[in-house]
Amino acid sequence: MTAREHSPDASGGPARPGAGAHAGAGRSWWGWGRTDQALPDSECRALAALLPGLPEEPLPVPGTGELTMASPRIRAPGALAHLVSDGPADRAAHTYGKAYRDVVRALHGDMAAAPDLVAHPRTETELVDLLDWAGTADVAVIPYGGGSSVTGGVEYRGGDHAGVLSLDLSAMDRVLEVDTTSRAARIQAGVFGPSLEDQLRGHGGGLTLRHFPQSFEFSTLGGWLATRAGGHYATLYTHIDDLVESMRVVTPAGVCDSWRLPGSGAGPSPDRLFLGSEGTLGVITEAWMRLQDRPVHKASAAVRFAAFADAVEAVRAIAQAGLNPANCRLLDPGEAALAGAAQDAESVLVLGVESAHHPVDGRLAELCALARDHGGTVGDPGGSGGSGTEAGEGDAVGAWRSAFLRMPYLRDGLARMSAITETFETACTWDRFTGLYEAVRAGIGAAVEEVTGSPGLVNCRLTHVYPDGAAPYFTVIATGRRGAEAAMWDEIKSAAMEILVRHGASVTHHHAVGRDHRPGYDRQRPEPFALALRAAKSALDPRGILNPGVLVDTQPRERG
Ligand SMILES: Cc1cc2nc3c(=O)[nH]c(=O)nc-3n(C[C@H](O)[C@H](O)[C@H](O)COP(=O)(O)OP(=O)(O)OC[C@H]3O[C@@H](n4cnc5c(N)ncnc54)[C@H](O)[C@@H]3O)c2cc1C
Repeated sequence: MTAREHSPDASGGPARPGAGAHAGAGRSWWGWGRTDQALPDSECRALAALLPGLPEEPLPVPGTGELTMASPRIRAPGALAHLVSDGPADRAAHTYGKAYRDVVRALHGDMAAAPDLVAHPRTETELVDLLDWAGTADVAVIPYGGGSSVTGGVEYRGGDHAGVLSLDLSAMDRVLEVDTTSRAARIQAGVFGPSLEDQLRGHGGGLTLRHFPQSFEFSTLGGWLATRAGGHYATLYTHIDDLVESMRVVTPAGVCDSWRLPGSGAGPSPDRLFLGSEGTLGVITEAWMRLQDRPVHKASAAVRFAAFADAVEAVRAIAQAGLNPANCRLLDPGEAALAGAAQDAESVLVLGVESAHHPVDGRLAELCALARDHGGTVGDPGGSGGSGTEAGEGDAVGAWRSAFLRMPYLRDGLARMSAITETFETACTWDRFTGLYEAVRAGIGAAVEEVTGSPGLVNCRLTHVYPDGAAPYFTVIATGRRGAEAAMWDEIKSAAMEILVRHGASVTHHHAVGRDHRPGYDRQRPEPFALALRAAKSALDPRGILNPGVLVDTQPRERG
């Protein structure tokens, strides 16, 4: 494709050198979030007391200057050289996503997958030029937003391309236009969550995208769209898909710019082709996103259940009652204890309601009544209509919320102590839920013992609920063996994927497929659909340069 085939204006005006700095300054190259938030060695050591048999000292964090990396095999042509970096710090930070197996491999200094170059385009024209060059030079291109993938989505694995370019979108980070009449905004794909919301606030009108994945702070709109991310809200608009009005995607075969429409029955949706395409069919450069009024009425409550089965029935009743709670997070006894939200083998249900327009106390009372009908004990309801805060929420709600926000840093601290600590998520219909829950707890419990030689924790929470089913999210914590952490997790994870597929549960509810979920995804998707996906890949990316290995195998390549 040439730059003439797209409209430079659509790239959002003048480039701003240094934009996208959010992605750099203070970010951890090896783990989650900001370096100043990472656990100090003393806290890592203290965590090791949670599990038997862990080493006494945390793995040291290598400096990027100490890493061994192969020399770049490719060079960008002179006209593009200013957009591209081959510095070790940039290459190291773009080697992996943020899954547990990424963190431990980075801590061990394994940089075999490092990209040769990292590009930071500031405009769509620059991005098109980079793709054109990559196509002719047989360079694999890995679109990179915040790099928070937990499924190997941004890691080049074992292909035969001449080189690998990580395409970092974080300098394309602006809210370009707000249509307050229709309540929608045109937003560049590289914007991180906090900046997106700040910019919307700057436009006045009290509008919000209201999409808050746990990774909100360090992930981008483009990444959310490319992975069909799930936000924090438990019902109604659970996935980013529901908030998309139109998308602009640069593919090697041309630019796909869909119309802004509130709804359309005109054949298969072009947006649906690219939602979840994980950088394999094109690079999302911007999207018109549906906005909502900021909620001002909020209330929450925690409900305790002696029996998990009763809690599940309560959640099903709530999901089927049309009350659409913003939060409906059920923690099983292990998860509730880990979050400090309950003791004595209780399950805890965290309920939250929000509205921009109406007081919500009545809705919370209805939800609590349903929970009581199923044996729940409702704690002090928190928040109140009209306050706009969540003040007054019960201890269990507060404990859960702070554990939720701190969890990624704790995970990295445990990883430094060579503990195995990872999650996997899925979705299934209610009729299969109990069978799946029990099979995972038993099967993964056994797999953990077999792989590590001792029992570990296998906990579960429900992150999203639907009238016809739920999305269980499992956490595994176990004793690892230094140097073998990633391989041990891989064994446990493949046991998990086998159980999910056997129970007809999705290989992922919102974490995407990436490279890690390919074996399960290949079994989940119907074969005629796989055929169509391969055909779309060949048509849009005939040289097979875009994120090879993700979603579909790249066909033998046309070389330039
Ligand atoms: C601690 C933690 C918490 C998380 N919580 C959640 C959660 O609550 N909900 C959830 O859904 N996920 C969650 N994730 C997973 C991850 O944050 C999501 O998958 C997120 O959508 C990725 O966004 P990103 O900008 O970081 O994308 P990246 O990780 O950079 O990329 C992800 C994939 O999208 C592709 N991609 C990125 N940008 C573009 C683009 N502009 N065009 C085309 N392809 C692109 C990449 O090539 C890759 O395949 C979490 C991850 C971590 C580490």
